[in-house]
Amino acid sequence: MAADEIDTTAEEKWASAYADQHGFRLNPDRVQLTNVLRGLVRNRKRFGEQYCPCRIRSGDPEKDRAIVCPCIYHTQEIDKDGHCHCNLFFENKQP
Ligand code: SF4
Repeated sequence: MAADEIDTTAEEKWASAYADQHGFRLNPDRVQLTNVLRGLVRNRKRFGEQYCPCRIRSGDPEKDRAIVCPCIYHTQEIDKDGHCHCNLFFENKQP
């Protein structure tokens, strides 16, 4: 791995386990998945929490707790749209 590459191994492991536990699946598009995971890693390194990479932080940790991944919106979004706003988690439709 190049020095400037972001290691997403831990986040992917966490997201995969979370998806399994909740009946979701991860984005099957490897490029999109990696981009979202990188955003989570970046936010964790910069701000101490894995804030959603697709939402704007207010800067108030109390308010921003709502957008720490998995955000408070994801289940509703997956129900409605089939995936969360960032396209990290998808509904797990049985074929
Ligand atoms: S939209 Fe998806 S990636 Fe973003 S915080 Fe919510 S669950 Fe995580």
